Amino acid sequence: MTTAVIDRTQILCEGLVRIYKRKGVEVVALQGLDLHVGSGELVAIVGASGSGKSTLLNILSGLDSPSAGRALVAGHDLLAMRRAERRQYRLRTCGFVWQRSTDNLVPYLSAVENVDLPQRLAGRGRVERRERSEGLLEQLHIEDTADRRPSQMSGGQQQRLAIAVAMANEPQVLFCDEPTGELDTAESHEVYGALQRMNETNGTTVVVVTHDPTVTAEVRRTVAIRDGRTASETLRRTPGVDGEHIVAEEFAVLDRAGRLQLPADFVSALGLRQRVRLELADDHIQIWPEEAQPLAVPDVAPAGRHRGGLAGVEEA
Ligand code: ADP
Ligand code: MG
Repeated sequence: MTTAVIDRTQILCEGLVRIYKRKGVEVVALQGLDLHVGSGELVAIVGASGSGKSTLLNILSGLDSPSAGRALVAGHDLLAMRRAERRQYRLRTCGFVWQRSTDNLVPYLSAVENVDLPQRLAGRGRVERRERSEGLLEQLHIEDTADRRPSQMSGGQQQRLAIAVAMANEPQVLFCDEPTGELDTAESHEVYGALQRMNETNGTTVVVVTHDPTVTAEVRRTVAIRDGRTASETLRRTPGVDGEHIVAEEFAVLDRAGRLQLPADFVSALGLRQRVRLELADDHIQIWPEEAQPLAVPDVAPAGRHRGGLAGVEEA
């Protein structure tokens, strides 16, 4: 029943809930999160610390199970996966770059040995392994560090090596948790460039989570997560022929029940509270503060009257 969806949608989360219980206290880390990522997309998920980003990646990587909801990745139903399937999923279907850099690399192995290791676990032959490792180090511009240990590499080089390790078994999906968290701006830019190359050259679907809002400038699609839910999206496109102009458009995320979260700055600009007036126009919906008159059509309303029309939610 879901095959047609999976063909185009490589990652599908619907109503994901994750509740942690510790010493009798419940923390709702994800509260009905929806996410669709198409095959071959590069998506950044951005949100404040504690918004549920790592929780989401732990679920998508098969390390943790949600309390409720649906999660499908590359045809695997993450809630129904048995042990053997989970192992194959983690070894071959997905690659991961974890938030703590020490989790990504084996300190006493050289760069090339680090990339070799997951391929050995997957049972690849020696010649194929070497070819793949050298190719990846080259693709990530760290071929000169092949014989160095991680501690002899810069932070940016270590993160690119972590990407090479994650890509070793040609995963369909690459998940990265704060891959630039400990890097300066130039190094971060290099890491995003590396992720873009993995995405474009190998067709790998890439999902990056970060608290850094400037990631919007590095990827085409950014999904904002707030309080364990996807709240809005920014799509960046390069219009015209000059290729220099970058336009970013903001979208709100509509869940299956029709719920929508308005951007906080829109809400405060109009002092929206508790109830708002809604009106359906031909091709969009308008929203006013409760006390405002909804009948005024913005372009014929007296000056100052239709301020509320600014909050009209344009259809995506
Ligand atoms: P982010 O990665 O966006 O910073 P997390 O997914 O790590 O957010 O955490 C989301 C919320 O869940 C936070 O309130 C955090 O304290 C809580 N949380 C995360 N992991 C656990 C855990 N193992 N036990 C209890 N609470 C947790
Ligand atoms: Mg985190």
